[in-house]
Amino acid sequence: MKKGIELKGNPLHLFKINFDMERIKTVIVGSGPAGYTAAIYAARADLKPVVYTGMEPGGQLTTTTEVDNFPGYPEGVDGPSMMVQLQQQAERFGTEVRIAHVEKVDLAKEKGGIHTLYIQGGDAVEAETIIISTGATAKYLGLPSEQKLRGGGVSACAVCDGFFYKGQDVAIVGGGDTAAEEATYLANICNKVTMLVRKGEMRASKAMQHRVTNTPNIDLRYFSEVDEVLGDAVVEGLRIRNNQNNTVEEISITGLFIAIGHKPNTDIFKGQLEMDEAGYLITKSKSTHTNLPGVFASGDVQDKEYRQAITAAGTGCMAALDAERYLQSLA
Ligand code: NDP
Repeated sequence: MKKGIELKGNPLHLFKINFDMERIKTVIVGSGPAGYTAAIYAARADLKPVVYTGMEPGGQLTTTTEVDNFPGYPEGVDGPSMMVQLQQQAERFGTEVRIAHVEKVDLAKEKGGIHTLYIQGGDAVEAETIIISTGATAKYLGLPSEQKLRGGGVSACAVCDGFFYKGQDVAIVGGGDTAAEEATYLANICNKVTMLVRKGEMRASKAMQHRVTNTPNIDLRYFSEVDEVLGDAVVEGLRIRNNQNNTVEEISITGLFIAIGHKPNTDIFKGQLEMDEAGYLITKSKSTHTNLPGVFASGDVQDKEYRQAITAAGTGCMAALDAERYLQSLA
């Protein structure tokens, strides 16, 4: 952290004067489609944005192979290449990309206040505005065979990857709304969908459950867990265990979709920003404003509903426009 002195004369007015802490107009935390789109717009608006990439530069798309549903790529594009292009586009307008992780924030509560971000390694910077685009992380089962085959037939996004299994047999794990929605989505594309729910009931809404049970090519199995994903380089099957009677069965599939929930990456904002019970940041209606002035949120970190690269990019654009307008309102 940069040097400074603390003035403790009055205990109610404990504060620090920083002689040389860098002051940035707009800091963007996170480097997925939301973060880089925010950077493109902020840079073009002369906000001189700095992007802190986080632990996974490029975000979730870097773990996807082919992206076929982002407009403008008629032949599709692989996720890592798309993220490199988004970064280059942001840099073309003057965005500075720092491969570093923000580990703590101290957010100002009053309009015009200056926020402080503490960077892993000991540095700290000040920001007039912050755009939080830290995303959400899909949960996985944690089996070694599942981890080995991520990108080889194991996916956490049916809308992104389902198309590659057209006409084939696939399985999906989970019993929530996401799993139910993705099972019916896959059923439209694939030959057969085996849906594995670990309890004797689904957590999904009744309407979604009806959609699942009314879809003839979904084979819904309760009390069922994955023991192992079979296959060396690509998914070839699953070993399933019935946790009621401990019977084990192997099925042949080519794709396994994990839909057991996401965890928004918001730990460093706890206690400072308003979140819902699952930890997603709450933004004010039709905007990216959080509950604190000058702090905006875009992408999956504030969206558990759509979670698409294109919707994340859309809210990244909104966040940069909101930040620009906020700074103008201070002038
Ligand atoms: P949820 O947390 O609602 O559901 C997760 C599901 O995965 C549960 O069935 C859970 O089982 C199961 N699960 C968790 N861990 C494991 C594990 N290790 N092995 C097997 N199964 C596991 O997550 P969702 O992503 O489905 O939904 C998140 C939120 O988003 C919800 O509020 C949902 O309503 C909302 N949503 C709404 C949609 C809509 O309205 N169109 C669409 C998608 C999501 P168990 O019940 O046994 O814990």
